[in-house]
Amino acid sequence: MAEEVKRVYKFGKDAEGNNVTEGNTDMKYTLGGKGANLAEMANIGLPVPPGFTISCQTCMEYSNAGNVWPEGALDTIWEYREDLEQRMGKKIGDVNDPLLVSVRSGAPFSMPGMMDTVLNLGLNDQSVQGLIAQTENPRFAWDSYRRFIQMFSNVVMGMDGDLFENAINAMKIEKGVKDDTELTADDLKELVEVFKGIFSENADTVAHPELVVDGAAAFPQDPTAQLKYAIEAVFGSWGNPRAVLYRKQNKISDDLGTAVNVQCMVFGNKGETSATGVAFTRNAADGTKEYYGDFLVNAQGEDVVAGIRNTSPISELKEIPALAEAGQQLEDIFVLLEGHFRDMMDIEFTIEQGKLFMLQTRVGKRTAAAALKIAIDMESEGLISKEEAVQRVQPDQLDQLLHPQFDRKANYEVLARGLNASPGAAVGEVVFSAADAVAAVEEGRKVVLVRWETNPDDLAGMIAAEGILTSHGGKTSHAAVIARGMGAPCVCGVEALKIDADKKEVVVSGTDVVLHEGDVISIDGTTGIVVNGAVDLVMPELTGDLDTILEWADEFRTMGVRANADNPEDAQLSRNFGAEGIGLCRTEHMFLGDRKQIIQTFILNEDEEIRQQAADQLSEAQTGDFYGMFKAMDGLPVIVRLLDPPLHEFLESPRALDVEIARMEATGADAAELAAKRDLMAKIDSFAEANPMLGMRGCRLSIMYPILPVLQVRAIATAAAMLKKEGLDPKPEVMIPLVSTVNELEKLRAVAEATIAEVAEEQGVELDIEIGTMIELPRAAVTADEIATQADFFSFGTNDLTQTTFGFSRDDVEGEFIPTYLAEKLLPYNPFATIDPGVAKMVKMGVELGKQGNPDLTVGVCGEHGGDPDSIHTFAGIGLDYVSCSPYRVPIARLAAAQAALKQA
Ligand code: PEP
Ligand code: MG
Repeated sequence: MAEEVKRVYKFGKDAEGNNVTEGNTDMKYTLGGKGANLAEMANIGLPVPPGFTISCQTCMEYSNAGNVWPEGALDTIWEYREDLEQRMGKKIGDVNDPLLVSVRSGAPFSMPGMMDTVLNLGLNDQSVQGLIAQTENPRFAWDSYRRFIQMFSNVVMGMDGDLFENAINAMKIEKGVKDDTELTADDLKELVEVFKGIFSENADTVAHPELVVDGAAAFPQDPTAQLKYAIEAVFGSWGNPRAVLYRKQNKISDDLGTAVNVQCMVFGNKGETSATGVAFTRNAADGTKEYYGDFLVNAQGEDVVAGIRNTSPISELKEIPALAEAGQQLEDIFVLLEGHFRDMMDIEFTIEQGKLFMLQTRVGKRTAAAALKIAIDMESEGLISKEEAVQRVQPDQLDQLLHPQFDRKANYEVLARGLNASPGAAVGEVVFSAADAVAAVEEGRKVVLVRWETNPDDLAGMIAAEGILTSHGGKTSHAAVIARGMGAPCVCGVEALKIDADKKEVVVSGTDVVLHEGDVISIDGTTGIVVNGAVDLVMPELTGDLDTILEWADEFRTMGVRANADNPEDAQLSRNFGAEGIGLCRTEHMFLGDRKQIIQTFILNEDEEIRQQAADQLSEAQTGDFYGMFKAMDGLPVIVRLLDPPLHEFLESPRALDVEIARMEATGADAAELAAKRDLMAKIDSFAEANPMLGMRGCRLSIMYPILPVLQVRAIATAAAMLKKEGLDPKPEVMIPLVSTVNELEKLRAVAEATIAEVAEEQGVELDIEIGTMIELPRAAVTADEIATQADFFSFGTNDLTQTTFGFSRDDVEGEFIPTYLAEKLLPYNPFATIDPGVAKMVKMGVELGKQGNPDLTVGVCGEHGGDPDSIHTFAGIGLDYVSCSPYRVPIARLAAAQAALKQA
């Protein structure tokens, strides 16, 4: 017999007040984050309205079967519904005393605002009368009914939410009132009829023929049908485009599904003794130990998040006499929850006629600055260990701290102020819609997305924009939460902005400024300031909390972190960021500017004397570069790679030269000059290759142009000798790129050794310079045992290794087919950003064989993957000695390496 699958789990109390909860916080893959923590809160005795959770697996089975219910699942749900009705002593849809429920999504990982929710389910033309009788509050009952029709139509039937908002606005104008709360019971009753009319006109009767009654679509009155529709809609919302995009952004698997929580409604909109709010147990923006959040009196939860009315700060809750007791209880619960979950928590609550209910809790999202402070504070409060503190900060989040700020020296006038919702500063052109933001960024422009308030459909625009600015909503509004999660600067709730998105203009009250699309503005999400025009931005300094966490990280990390840098400034910067050396100095970056002319002379001249002269000039210039780099990294290793790219990269573009020749021909230029240009063109043409990335590059250059390695190694050795004479401790290492056979390395190693010996002799100093190679071709990885006999170190060039293992051109595929591969799930992620398991196998094989060939071999990685936290975990598993990454990723790599070590321990 097939094993019976448990699909539904109850939470909360029974009629006798006993806790009958079936789940707990460890069950988030079954119950979703929300369901698991509702269960946990009920288990620890917090006031949770009773309900039940339908498992994530049921959602996946339903959607994998093409939206078909697994056998028996609906029957189980109806059993749990009956059980809930018994526990509450009320029935859904009851004419005299109806039980109302909410139907909410809740995935294993929080996806704020991405999926659907339906509130007040169970109301119909009869049960609304029961609600009136029970509450003696007709206004509340009609308000609840109109909200239900509105949400059901929008969420379940996919109707445009504006149809309903416009009807509310029309009603407010007709009744001469400003605020929703001023509409009377009769007004709301009238609105229910209007809404039912809108439903009837707009319902999709092709998809839902069962809605047709007497020839027209009718709002469904049967509570069972309402519940089934709502659950199916929540299941469906797992696959909506914004949820799919959010998962892609946050690397959340598409296979997890969402749970559905069916829970008894409690009402924050039952008058002045009721309220609803969202809160964090600490400040989510800067980590201060204070209660942080917003609430609204006489409102339902969605009103707070939607930013429809301006909220009050949570600290004021206790000051309202009717809410003071519940406010105190809430603060006590904050302490209890932090103690229980040992983390900063995010909470949704409702106060119904003075009584507090907890609707949700989860580990709160926070900025990088807040994450650091909270981790350090909680360690000193004894709540968590140092190891846990290091694991509480997401490495990628540190990027936020490395984000630009307004230059303190800059002169600017504040145009308006709002809430400092997500730190960092941004400068860009004003755009008014997500689509315009995406389009502008595709054209290479930088934009600030300006919205009344954002909603989940704006996600693509929010990702594209430099920053986000809203005129409405609090620090827990959609814009604020999402921007903080993405690390994008955001200023929200700037009430002075009167935005007309249709006209694409913003009137700034109290000033004569009117901003139009394309005008440049600056925002500072750290202070909440908006400026008309561009403000100079600067990078922040690394201090305080970041240093502390990174120092702790260094205690646990076993893998070294070096930087990829090719000038003294970047070398110094990376050293300041904690780099323990340079893992890759790309010398070709030193051949730009004036020096391009010299290298062109070197490449294009066949006259040996002229060529030698150019080589000497280059060697001299490089000596100066290396001198600065080795000095900045005194005492630490600096791996200098010999010239790597195809030579034609240093030559003029044949296309530009072609145009020039045509112009000279047309304008009758001097014959000798024209001949010289044609000659140049012919030479450049002779360097053209069909596959330059597989051609004359890497060590092949050194073999074909033997002067090249000599001039470069001479410069390295000379700079080291100069510093040694000054009493410093330079530690250069010479790296040969793109080796595929041991013979190449053997030959070039001999050249390098001879040159180093020559310089040592000339300079009268002892030089001990290691010589190694990059492993970036499959043949090198599979013959690493042979290659290692000639190498002191290996550095895995995972950019080229990815290119050559897949046979993907690294310069082309990311714009071309990788996006399609990702969309079609042929690849789980971009292998040029996060190391692919197949390429990682190459690295592993290279390390194992390499150590056979030379047990003292040092092994590291210097491809872009060296700064990617996920790849760093893989490299730690392989046992690399270090990763090397761009200077700004050094702090990220230090933290990721510590987390990898702690995970392995
Ligand atoms: C690599 O290939 O991974 C590497 C670091 O070298 P480059 O990107 O310069 O080819
Ligand atoms: Mg390479």
